[in-house]
Amino acid sequence: MQKMGELAVLGKALGSGRDAVRSELEESAEAAKLREGSPKVHNPEVAGRAQNMTSEMAQRKSTFDIRRKAQAEALKLPPFPTTTIGSFPQTGEVRKARAAHTKGAMTDSGYTSFLQNETRDAVRWQEDIGIDVLVHGEFERNDMVQYFGEKLSGYAFTKHGWVQSYGSRYVRPPIIFGDVSRPKPMTVEWATFAQSLTEKPVKGMLTGPVTMMQWSFVRDDIPRAEVCRQIALLLRDEVTDLEAAGIRIIQIDEPALREGLPLRRADWPPYLKWAVECFRLSASGVRDETQIHTHMCYSEFNDIIESIGAMDADVISIETSRSKMELLDAFVDYHYPNEIGPGVYDIHSPRVPSEIEMVDLLAKASQRLSPDKIWVNPDCGLKTRGWAEVRPALEHMVHAAQMLRESFPRR
Ligand code: GLN
Ligand code: ZN
Repeated sequence: MQKMGELAVLGKALGSGRDAVRSELEESAEAAKLREGSPKVHNPEVAGRAQNMTSEMAQRKSTFDIRRKAQAEALKLPPFPTTTIGSFPQTGEVRKARAAHTKGAMTDSGYTSFLQNETRDAVRWQEDIGIDVLVHGEFERNDMVQYFGEKLSGYAFTKHGWVQSYGSRYVRPPIIFGDVSRPKPMTVEWATFAQSLTEKPVKGMLTGPVTMMQWSFVRDDIPRAEVCRQIALLLRDEVTDLEAAGIRIIQIDEPALREGLPLRRADWPPYLKWAVECFRLSASGVRDETQIHTHMCYSEFNDIIESIGAMDADVISIETSRSKMELLDAFVDYHYPNEIGPGVYDIHSPRVPSEIEMVDLLAKASQRLSPDKIWVNPDCGLKTRGWAEVRPALEHMVHAAQMLRESFPRR
């Protein structure tokens, strides 16, 4: 769709000249400032903080075993806890409302109350079907990187820089042109709104530092590791703000960690070292009882499993349903010590998986991993799906978890 639009603009420009497409070519305010050479590329405070960070800052206060006890105590989750990866369907309605708001055809307050209704419905429905750890649904987000980039200083946007992300979906990667900082909290309002509607824990939802960088165009006047550290530090502030606002579980998505690997194998170790450190920097400012999750999509884990372990997330969710749990091998062989949610529902297909199918996958996982460390979740976010499929699929998933609880002892 977006590509077609771009072709139409190019066609018009070729036929009738540049002036005919002036409005389509309008730059974002930041891009214009950037061209004029006035934006704040250098922010000594931000750059200095990234250069002076200490290794203690990348270290949780206690080891996983201690944290695990504190979290079990605080969260009181059942065995085989159920959750989702974050987004719920971005329906035509949601996209229409966003477009209307962007164009100025919908007021800020109209758009906010629309999003509140979507979020409220999603929270109630998750409670009704018995999900244990809820999400707010990410209805307010256009994209998991763009949404955050738009709230940060040091990021600029294009109107037409579309890049294919998957299938027929396109995104416009932001441009990191300067030192990156967070003028104010980015997700606390939506997370606390959702949490105010339920007693169950609502997971805060952030895009991790490596993915934020990997899916942007990055300035090349300082090392990528340095850019990543700046993002990690502002995310760390967001994480501790979420915690202070009463959010007990926070997920930091890192689906792009593996694709950031340099081409030459010899360059892998230094990359992995700073990439893992950046994740830990963003995650480690919290108390023991605050549970940090991470999520990675389809990923070959075998050759980077030690780095995945070194991230030390309390819970990791990964895509495993299409490989029938084969992707778990790396975790099993490595004796991955923390908790893990092997995806039991392929979200790339509209097919609704049956309860039995998911029970089989979970049983398979339980033979190979310690059953008391297994979470039950889909492979990835549900934004590309419709509610007609998501509703029955997640109901089946909750039933599958209940069946597993009956066959395995309590944690
Ligand atoms: N939290 C994001 C979502 O649910 C994660 C998406 C991803 O891993 N690509 O959409
Ligand atoms: Zn994913």
